[in-house]
Amino acid sequence: MNDAHSELSALLGPRYSRSAAECDAHAHSETHVCAGPPEGVAWPETTGEVAAILRICHAHRLPVVGWGAGTSLEGHALALHGGICVDFTRMTRIVELRPEDMLVRVQPGITREDLNRELRATGLFFPVDPGANATLGGMAATRASGTTAVRYGTMRQAVLGLEAVLADGTVIRTGSAAPKSSAGYDLTALLVGSEGTLALITELTLRLHGQPEAVSAAVCGFADMSGAVDCVIETIQSGIPMARIEFLDTAAVAACNAHARQDLPAMPHLMVEFHGSAAGVAEQAQRFGEIAASHGSAGFRWAEKTEDRNALWKMRHNAYPACLAARSGATAIVTDVCVPISRLAEAVEETRADIKASGLPGPILGHVGDGNFHAILLIDPASADERATAKALAARMADRALRLGGTITGEHGIGMGKLDYMPAEHGPAWAAMGAVKRALDPLNLMNPGKLVPPHDQG
Ligand SMILES: Cc1cc2nc3c(=O)[nH]c(=O)nc-3n(C[C@H](O)[C@H](O)[C@H](O)COP(=O)(O)OP(=O)(O)OC[C@H]3O[C@@H](n4cnc5c(N)ncnc54)[C@H](O)[C@@H]3O)c2cc1C
Repeated sequence: MNDAHSELSALLGPRYSRSAAECDAHAHSETHVCAGPPEGVAWPETTGEVAAILRICHAHRLPVVGWGAGTSLEGHALALHGGICVDFTRMTRIVELRPEDMLVRVQPGITREDLNRELRATGLFFPVDPGANATLGGMAATRASGTTAVRYGTMRQAVLGLEAVLADGTVIRTGSAAPKSSAGYDLTALLVGSEGTLALITELTLRLHGQPEAVSAAVCGFADMSGAVDCVIETIQSGIPMARIEFLDTAAVAACNAHARQDLPAMPHLMVEFHGSAAGVAEQAQRFGEIAASHGSAGFRWAEKTEDRNALWKMRHNAYPACLAARSGATAIVTDVCVPISRLAEAVEETRADIKASGLPGPILGHVGDGNFHAILLIDPASADERATAKALAARMADRALRLGGTITGEHGIGMGKLDYMPAEHGPAWAAMGAVKRALDPLNLMNPGKLVPPHDQG
């Protein structure tokens, strides 16, 4: 192995480090999931360097784990089986911007906020927005989504094509700049959501959208959770093209109030946003207002100015640290599930009752417009009992989502935290995923221990 590390040092110079500080900095997950540090960290700048890194690791049988911003929630980017971490934070270039085709080619390390800053003057924007300022490579690898998925889709719709490096160092291109294709297996779709277990992504071709002419956002409270959730269901079923429709339960509202110095009433809330022409936005807002009133909304607080809207969504995007701060010294088991919109009310109500019965604090919030919600289960990190209670709650959430026809995760992904639920969701299809993994990475070097069945099973 020392040969591998010397070859990596010769390739990258100071951009390969084995220092304890750098390795430790790549050993932490945002949540409770932990693993040891990698043996080294590489910071490539080009596809050629990524390919050379993988050739060295392949020759020396050294595992490789990609690293974007390290914000994934199920231990995805941790070096469970040792090996090296490939950190993409020096690959942040916009390679090509094609406003006429409404697409952009980027290196994987650029973050969504930086990309949108660069796009601001073009009249275009990239809509997918996980709360954290994640990298586009990490977002593609986790098939991320966020508050705007209800209108603009997830990374599944946003990625038109990829450049990626396979385990043996082969560089491949998938997709094209054309809006659609029927040329063979959809390898773009296979790699999006593969969590770095099949290849490292070195370039992405992304679909952009026009910045809306008018935007309007609001928060509204509801006397009870069922009123808010039923309002979401009727809104989606009635076809109003919501740009965002987010739910926060009373505990999440209290945490956001304390963290963002807001004064929302202590009740469940929806946060909504409308995009379109001025007339279209006004009409959508009016139709939504009528539906909300019929479900007992307690009135709206509008945010029409850009700075007010930004403050509102900043509060929403900071809901995770806000909830963490609600219990001093706590760590969180954050879990997300997604159900068909017609089963959303049952899913949220049963989850609320289950969390209440457990005695743990567990705010619920989420992108309910697409049936996706999260529980942030706050536990004392020193308490094995609380950890077990939270894990059992998370397992019941996953079971419930499957029983209601949904999925064990709408956007956070599997990593190592949700591996145990994969057989229940996929049955024999999980073994098929393992077969794809073995075909593309027979030595099991790409992010081993994540997503697919352990290599020794079948
Ligand atoms: C406060 C907070 C809120 C969040 N809200 C949301 C949300 O609303 N929606 C949502 O979807 N997620 C959310 N997340 C989770 C997280 O932001 C996403 O999973 C995000 O996509 C991870 O991107 P990253 O750049 O941090 O990737 P990392 O965490 O660094 O890596 C994630 C995975 O991608 C792999 N990877 C990274 N780069 C590459 C590459 N170039 N090629 C191949 N594999 C690669 C890693 O190996 C790992 O398996 C949230 C997280 C936090 C902390």
